[in-house]
Amino acid sequence: MTVGKSVIVYGAGVSGRGAAEVLAKHGRQVFLYNDSECTIPNELQQTLAVNGGALVCGGFAKLLGSAELLVLSPGVPCDNENVLLAEQNGVEVISEVELAYRNYGGHIAAITGTNGKTTTTSIVGEMFKKLPVPSAVGGNIGFALSKEVEPLNDGAWLAAELSSFQLEKVVSFAPDIAVVLNLTPDHLERHYTMEAYGAAKKRIFTQQTAEQVTILNYDDEEVRSWAKESKGQICFFSRIFPLEQGVFIQDNNFVVKWNDVESIVCAVDDVHLFGGHNEENILAAIACGYFAGVSIADMAEVLRNFRAVEHRLEYVTTIKGVKYYNDSKATNTDSAIKALQAFKNGHVILLAGGYDKMTELEPMMEVVKEKTDLLILLGNAKERFNEAALACGVENIQIASSFEDAVERAYNVAVAPQVVLLSPACSSYDMFKNYPERGQRFKDLVMELAQR
Ligand code: ADP
Repeated sequence: MTVGKSVIVYGAGVSGRGAAEVLAKHGRQVFLYNDSECTIPNELQQTLAVNGGALVCGGFAKLLGSAELLVLSPGVPCDNENVLLAEQNGVEVISEVELAYRNYGGHIAAITGTNGKTTTTSIVGEMFKKLPVPSAVGGNIGFALSKEVEPLNDGAWLAAELSSFQLEKVVSFAPDIAVVLNLTPDHLERHYTMEAYGAAKKRIFTQQTAEQVTILNYDDEEVRSWAKESKGQICFFSRIFPLEQGVFIQDNNFVVKWNDVESIVCAVDDVHLFGGHNEENILAAIACGYFAGVSIADMAEVLRNFRAVEHRLEYVTTIKGVKYYNDSKATNTDSAIKALQAFKNGHVILLAGGYDKMTELEPMMEVVKEKTDLLILLGNAKERFNEAALACGVENIQIASSFEDAVERAYNVAVAPQVVLLSPACSSYDMFKNYPERGQRFKDLVMELAQR
């Protein structure tokens, strides 16, 4: 750090505000920059002002004169013109995660992947609570990592959920444990190609050394092939193959086998999360717990008590023998497919639709045809979804006039063993602020019906 030099934190969202606060408290002059007008809490304004910093909205170039470091919020792409300008001016550009890493001496298990990050990180966070040291969860899960690490000491364990956006500008970041869950097309509006998207994700392990562990999904061919690119010890997990070494499912049990010692953690059926995708998340979490030193018995206890993270195949209630599930977080077709496949016996009444992402629908509709007794469509995607469903031979379709109408329709026809599932395969922006609001509305409506 050079005396008289300032730091720019780009983006005044959760991550940016957290990073700015931490830097200012460490004595840095911080300009918290946002492209558009915004406000920040008074307390943060005062914290920044102590070292001559401030919130700045617009007019980025003026800040470059004194800046030596630019900390990027995850929402700001690396090819943003201001970021490029800063680089041309010799300013070092790092992500908020890199900042957290530089300020933290403890242990990290970092988790990335296209899907399953929050679920896996939450399980790992619960496992870390069993360790006799402080622990925390942070990152993409909703808190600024740089702020989250502040109270932690060098012996602590942090479970960090990291998106490709957060990994784009890490430099020296080398977690004790790095996990890659899977890789499917997503966020191509920012990364442009699958190659660039994958390259961002690989940065979770590229700085690791031989004492550190890289945990990879053996069942995802692309992710499996990344083993040769890591200098860390490789631990694979697989729900399909009993591996020579790694974490896998055998005889319906979750098993860890390492250095020729094999341990059964618990039975697959002991865990309340269901679906093949969740089995993968659990396997990855077990691998993290194992290498962080959580005992097999403690991991088993955590898994037996763990319930779905809210809005992710979350069980709501049972009405007249029919179970209702809220999977509002399924904002893309891939997630909805996973949700449908989780219901082994089918008989799903699926509520789908919302703000249309205009992705290809045929693969999803093939699964809809196999798994559903009735498809209820809603939102601005309903016409296109209807056409795609009809083209795939889905026979039983209803079009709802509103979200409430969709839930009511499901309630009116559902009989056990059918289940009612909200897994929209769409964003929520046509009707709601975000997916949690949509999920909450669904749960409220279902609970009202349960009272009838
Ligand atoms: P993320 O944080 O990566 O978005 P979540 O744990 O929040 O992941 O899960 C989001 C949705 O993605 C879930 O509702 C589920 O439908 C789907 N999903 C979860 N885990 C996986 C997985 N391992 N593979 C594929 N899809 C998954």
